[in-house]
Amino acid sequence: MPSARAFIVGNWKMNGLEAELAEARAIAAWLDEHPVGARVGLCPPATLISRMAEALAGTGIEIGGQDCSAEASGAHTGDVSAQMLRDAGAGLVIVGHSERRADHGEKNADVAAKAKAAAGCGLEPIICVGESLQERRIGRASAVVAGQVRASVPLVLAEHAFAVAYEPVWAIGSGLTPSVVEIEAVHRAIRSALTERLGGRGVAVPILYGGSVKADNAAGIFAADEVGGALVGGASLTAESFTGILAAA
Ligand code: PEP
Repeated sequence: MPSARAFIVGNWKMNGLEAELAEARAIAAWLDEHPVGARVGLCPPATLISRMAEALAGTGIEIGGQDCSAEASGAHTGDVSAQMLRDAGAGLVIVGHSERRADHGEKNADVAAKAKAAAGCGLEPIICVGESLQERRIGRASAVVAGQVRASVPLVLAEHAFAVAYEPVWAIGSGLTPSVVEIEAVHRAIRSALTERLGGRGVAVPILYGGSVKADNAAGIFAADEVGGALVGGASLTAESFTGILAAA
């Protein structure tokens, strides 16, 4: 992991009711007793953002959305704008998660528009990219992911804080992960694509790894070259499993 502080973000996906705020409070209480030096974020479903922001106020844990509209407002039933997330207490937003790309047909251009809208509202976008199993099998992982970065990171982000999350689609929720060597190869390709696109600004962008990160593989992943933290799905849902990952940072 580069010398910058690790950035570890939990993605609760479509999980969590009022009762699960107890897990978020327990994560904060654990961090209070075990200051790990990492930046920690939690992205609950939109319905919990304001309540989680209230529950975690003053703890240092950052709150994020899991998606935002590229539009500022208007006739877009069911969508949530970046400004609404900000208003609810978010400072981060995940965009381009593979589940959004698969379930809602989001393309790189849509992701770039969402990232631009988010940054324009003062949110820090976490832009997700990742290859399919087939793309990895034919040796195209780094090329595919670099192409996604070039098309999903808008140039305006040269002036804004943001992160990229490398999440191989086949590793999400499967218990499978690429080897550390494979993760490093893709993260280096992402770094090159970022510097190609944003010049010197691309050097400091955190590149998170996501896909079946657990307490028992986190330390090895965090030690990998160009890994600046993790985007964690399933293992972020309970304080017990998430703090196991934080302890490895
Ligand atoms: C994710 O969906 O962002 C993710 C990384 O999920 P999991 O950790 O469950 O593989």
